[in-house]
Amino acid sequence: MPIFNDTQVAFADKTDAQLKKAYWMFKMIEQPALTNLGTSVLNFSVHHNFPFVNGIVKNTLFEQFVGGETREESMKAVQQLFRRGVGSIFDYSIEGKEDEATFDAVCQEIKDIIKFSVGNAAIPFIVFKPTAFGRIDLYEAVGKNIELTSSQKEEWARVVKRFDEVCKLCHENSKKVMIDAEETWMQDAADQLCEQMMEKYNQETPIVWNTIQMYRTGRLEYMEEHLHRAKEKNYFIGYKIVRGAYMEKERARAAEKGYQDPIQPNKDASDKNYNAGIDFIMNHLDKVSGFFGTHNETSSELVMDKMRAKFLENNDPHIYFGQLYGMSDNITFYLSDKGYNATKYLPYGPVKDVVPYLTRRARENTSVAGQTGRELGLIQKELDRRKRK
Ligand SMILES: Cc1cc2nc3c(=O)[nH]c(=O)nc-3n(C[C@H](O)[C@H](O)[C@H](O)COP(=O)(O)OP(=O)(O)OC[C@H]3O[C@@H](n4cnc5c(N)ncnc54)[C@H](O)[C@@H]3O)c2cc1C
Repeated sequence: MPIFNDTQVAFADKTDAQLKKAYWMFKMIEQPALTNLGTSVLNFSVHHNFPFVNGIVKNTLFEQFVGGETREESMKAVQQLFRRGVGSIFDYSIEGKEDEATFDAVCQEIKDIIKFSVGNAAIPFIVFKPTAFGRIDLYEAVGKNIELTSSQKEEWARVVKRFDEVCKLCHENSKKVMIDAEETWMQDAADQLCEQMMEKYNQETPIVWNTIQMYRTGRLEYMEEHLHRAKEKNYFIGYKIVRGAYMEKERARAAEKGYQDPIQPNKDASDKNYNAGIDFIMNHLDKVSGFFGTHNETSSELVMDKMRAKFLENNDPHIYFGQLYGMSDNITFYLSDKGYNATKYLPYGPVKDVVPYLTRRARENTSVAGQTGRELGLIQKELDRRKRK
């Protein structure tokens, strides 16, 4: 029997009413036409401050996928997860804003999260997105070694400073910090910055973790080369590995601009590459720690198999698993039940700022064949089980 099928464990915290509501929501997300229409209406309404929208969003998508509007409000979810042995990773979800005041405000919020979470085992990691600290075009220019103007140089220095302040504070407070991966055309500069931060703050233990998207080609080679550099400079590496969330955008841009598609040719190739990423980490645990950010059951099981083969404890401090809040509870709670380091990304923020994250999530769920069907199947199974009781 597949190991992640225990819906009683997965949904132990959910009432019947909550489960039915979640079912209804995933059913809506399953319809591409509805999702496209819904996300457009939602973005438009939020943009124009329609007052009724806040309440609707808070009672539906927000309740399923978001901790709350503030850190304090989200602590209820943090505590509920921690009672079940699951750590929370606060994800301050402001996407798509590109001005210096917002970059500074987000950086301040991340530093506040660090201070707020010191000594709290329920919050094992801090996370941020590189584009929350600087403009994507600037990352692209830096990654391509384009000569910057003096004002761009100053702007980039501010990006580096924000990275450094956050990583330094994490180092001082023994908190791990994970840096998300985004679009390929900004990622070279982000990788370089992550490596600088690792060199500075990962001398004793992996504090700074970069993210590797295995749906990309060439990422195994990057990890090999990076490991070589890390050995030379004598620091530890932390990697979160994911498949990657921007496939359609990547393919469309590559086609439009006429360059080689940077994404694996098909799902099977991404799966194989992800599993090769698991192998890479498991074969270098003396230097590399791994966070497996995935809703894929086969990949999660593969990590567990590899841990067993190496006689590692389930809660080995070099290995973490992560899913997004509101998704794949069957994996998260199975893992925590067995003592693995299980975590959830827990987005939070004001409704209007979180809507771009939510619509991205809904679109991704619609476009990624299988995920929504999987959630629906599990919820239905649990509702049936409760009915039979
Ligand atoms: C804790 C956590 C943190 C995350 N952080 C990031 C992050 O920093 N950056 C980021 O980009 N994403 C991130 N993601 C999202 C992640 O990249 C995936 O989009 C998502 O998890 C779905 O992939 P999966 O491994 O869960 O499983 P699956 O459902 O098995 O795989 C779906 C994924 O496979 C790939 N895929 C699907 N069809 C094809 C195809 N035809 N050709 C090639 N590849 C295909 C795509 O990447 C797709 O998202 C994170 C996810 C989690 C759970």
